[in-house]
Amino acid sequence: LKRNLGPVSMQQNVHVMSGHWTRVPRNVNMDGLRRGYLFPEISVRENEHARRNPDARLIRLGIGDTTQPIPDTITAAMAEHAYALSTTRGYRGYGAEQGDMELRMAIAETLYRGTGVKGSEIFVSDGAQCDISRLQMLLGSDVKVAVQDPSFPAYIDTSVIVGQSGKLEEKTGKYNNIVYMNCGAENNFFPDLSATPRTDVIFFCSPNNPTGSAASWKQLKQLVDFAKTNGSMIVYDSAYAAYISDESPRSIFEIPGAKEVAIEISSFSKFAGFTGVRLGWTVVPEELKYANGFPVIEDFNRIVCTCFNGASNIVQAGGLACLTGDGYQATFASLGLKVYGGENAPYVWVHFPGTCSWNVFDQILEKTHVVTVPGRGFGPGGEEYIRVSAFGHRENIMEASLRMKKLFN
Ligand code: PLP
Repeated sequence: LKRNLGPVSMQQNVHVMSGHWTRVPRNVNMDGLRRGYLFPEISVRENEHARRNPDARLIRLGIGDTTQPIPDTITAAMAEHAYALSTTRGYRGYGAEQGDMELRMAIAETLYRGTGVKGSEIFVSDGAQCDISRLQMLLGSDVKVAVQDPSFPAYIDTSVIVGQSGKLEEKTGKYNNIVYMNCGAENNFFPDLSATPRTDVIFFCSPNNPTGSAASWKQLKQLVDFAKTNGSMIVYDSAYAAYISDESPRSIFEIPGAKEVAIEISSFSKFAGFTGVRLGWTVVPEELKYANGFPVIEDFNRIVCTCFNGASNIVQAGGLACLTGDGYQATFASLGLKVYGGENAPYVWVHFPGTCSWNVFDQILEKTHVVTVPGRGFGPGGEEYIRVSAFGHRENIMEASLRMKKLFN
């Protein structure tokens, strides 16, 4: 979709140009979304820059897409499964909606060992982003949510789509009825929970996109205690857990008691190069209950059965290969500017004090032909920052560093 849609300006004009209008009213929640998702807008500027500079070698360190080939032990497992589908013995139709039990067990045993998470609590999916939407469908429009500011845009956008938010305040860039938990350099990228009002749901991503910062055990313990005291539910996004290189927890379930207050979404995208293959999972613990005592896992199971029907069996064979044998394994340097992240996540978060991030984005693109992401796209808290993705071929990262060094030195 990101690739095929034309420039944002064109998309917005389509309705003006088409001749026939239906009588279907537009969902008011869709109308409430900010114009233009971040990445299409970056594409517009990138394409315009490429048109004006046809000879420049553009380096794309914007969208967090993986670039390295998938190890052939993994692709071989997918190919073998695909070929088997052509045989009477190997053919499989629908699988379990929750995912193949062997893969669910492998995820539990490899990635959640010692946390008490069981295979039966893991729901295999076609990616973390899709699961964010399914969780929002589960939660409905009557809950109030909190998000880190800045944060991955899908939490806020899905919140608007399902009708949890109020109107966007143009002045602040914030939606009413959503709590923005400031996570900036001044608080070490962890919210001041003593100043955070109670919400039903807290979206929390660690290591964080875009700041690259990973919360410590002590910080996550505070978060779990905060949720428990307030009767809140944490939706924890650990899509970048495989990049953690220090002792920071790789899962919220490393914190005692987290199974009573948290759901975890995660993905094969970033650690196995599965962004295009599509495979993720969500952990819904049996201990997690609504205000009326009903287990959340039963409702999530219902959502998955009704709205999903299970991940591709070919792809699940690839996922299983990632977690077994030699399939299981993953930087960027500073430029002298104040740089955060990069150690526990594939993103660096660069501070340009007193600037507007779209201007810095434009300046970097114009002068170095390097595509980054303006921090503003992740919320008002990202205004003075640029996110640089470390996904890329080493030569390109080195070349981009050289060009930026020249620009900023
Ligand atoms: N969560 C975070 C924090 C992300 O940054 C991304 C993708 O960039 C996703 C989820 C989406 O993951 P998936 O490819 O599994 O849908």
